[in-house]
Amino acid sequence: MGIHVGSKTGGASQKSGGDPSWLMSGKQAKSVEKEHDDAAQDRKDARGKLWRYYLKPEAAGKIFFLNGDIVTEGEEKGSFDINFVEEHKVTTQGSKVPNFYVCVSRTETCPLCEAGNFASFVGLFGIIDTTVFTDRDGKEHKNRKRIFAAKGQTIKKLAKKAAQNGGSIVGMLMDVSRSDNRSATVGDDFDKIGVWPLEALGKNIDAEKWQDVIAVPDFAEELTYLSAAEMREKFHMDDPSGPGYQGQSGEPGSDAPAYPDGGDDSLPIPPGDGGGASGSDKVDYNDIPF
Ligand SMILES: [Zn+2]
Repeated sequence: MGIHVGSKTGGASQKSGGDPSWLMSGKQAKSVEKEHDDAAQDRKDARGKLWRYYLKPEAAGKIFFLNGDIVTEGEEKGSFDINFVEEHKVTTQGSKVPNFYVCVSRTETCPLCEAGNFASFVGLFGIIDTTVFTDRDGKEHKNRKRIFAAKGQTIKKLAKKAAQNGGSIVGMLMDVSRSDNRSATVGDDFDKIGVWPLEALGKNIDAEKWQDVIAVPDFAEELTYLSAAEMREKFHMDDPSGPGYQGQSGEPGSDAPAYPDGGDDSLPIPPGDGGGASGSDKVDYNDIPF
């Protein structure tokens, strides 16, 4: 820092010591400008994509699952019939919200792995977050579709819920809460409220576009895959003085409390179990507690 670049022409009255370090010029200014551009581009890209489900420590929410059937036969028996991916969590400068990048180590040398950012193996679920969120303009949002990326312990907990429900968590509405900053960012406690047919849950949200509401996310579309070369370019990995990256996967405590839509659950929860789907086509929409 504090490198004085540029030339002052005819500077008879130049102060000793030069400009303060926060006044940037030349190469440094260009570099910082690019950081801002990149962060803005990331935010723009992210707007078109589904957000990750995230709970602040000690927060709670209410969600239901769009996929999550358990395989009933063959070698995969007992596992979720869902997509899995190895991915890196990266928090770039200028952005508090982490971004996720598919680990490319299966096909080429992965720059993020090489840089010591541990990839996580996660199972991919689509959920609807029914938690009400009021934005800065006072507008209320709820029933947002989210990607729920679950690591091993979370998958085990969900598999247990599925096993208790005939081998599926599809259409299962759950209270979810996160104990503290060391626990999984998607929450570590899951409590079944009830199970409904997805169609009924979808129609409860939008009677016309219910099919869109309950469509499982296209993960191939939603996840970000960069080649090794694209990663090196993006994270300035060939530039030792570049801003690089910070943040590691697998450290829930390092999460910035960045998501503006935290999970405070202000919805009343009706008493009782809410009943099961029980294969009935007749659904009393008044029973659906959101
Ligand atoms: Zn990797």
